[in-house]
Amino acid sequence: MLSVKDLHIQFGNLKVLKGVDLNVDKGKVVVIIGPSGSGKTTLLRCLNVLETPNRGVLTINDQTLDFTETITKKDIRSLRRLTGMVFQTYNLFPHFTALQNVTEGPITVQKRKKEEAQKKASELLQKVGLGDKEQYYPFQLSGGQEQRVGIARALAMDPEVILFDEPTSALDPELVGEVLQVMKDLAREGMTMVVVTHEMNFAKEVADEVLFMDGGHVIERGTPSDIFEHPQHERTKQFLNLLN
Ligand code: ADP
Repeated sequence: MLSVKDLHIQFGNLKVLKGVDLNVDKGKVVVIIGPSGSGKTTLLRCLNVLETPNRGVLTINDQTLDFTETITKKDIRSLRRLTGMVFQTYNLFPHFTALQNVTEGPITVQKRKKEEAQKKASELLQKVGLGDKEQYYPFQLSGGQEQRVGIARALAMDPEVILFDEPTSALDPELVGEVLQVMKDLAREGMTMVVVTHEMNFAKEVADEVLFMDGGHVIERGTPSDIFEHPQHERTKQFLNLLN
């Protein structure tokens, strides 16, 4: 459903991704782990072209971008519509209520009718456990609640795949669980997800495939059991040992 082949990106002289391949089948959850600075977030941002790779081919459903060729804004927009993104720091509009944050995309980008968008947004806020917070502004919500609004906002655009960029790392520890629970529910319902996270228990429980990245390469990939119980590469072992 989503694939990248031989993805390369550099910022100035800094080579950050050095030939990354990734395949995500429909309904699967791929979790990306690895040390800070290994290129995890950059890879995720390349998947919805928030960063433009220097080389590589990205395919989502039947849409393909070859980054060695000229790419138009229209190409980028139509591919980006297939993805939803959940950011580390939520990125909600501060002057919009929870409901308005969720309806904004459908109304302005998808040109949906306001009433229809509101009905759907209400359902999605209910789904993430915030049915009673529709009229709250971000400053009136906890970090965990803000992030759940962020997830509802991503879902409102009917994405084929949701990209999660360290969705719980800005949260106080006691708020992490409620966000992970929403993500687990989505995975169980068959949402296709690519998740960058440091939450190893989430990876063990939910991932169909785990990728370990270091230095701009995917060093190792496999089932949670392959990676966490039988890592093959020295660098994977070192990384996992450091966490224990
Ligand atoms: P990770 O998510 O694994 O911590 P990142 O993808 O955030 O790693 O970053 C990988 C490297 O790329 C880091 O050295 C970071 O400083 C650099 N980097 C990321 N984005 C940019 C950018 N827009 N401009 C310059 N350097 C960047």
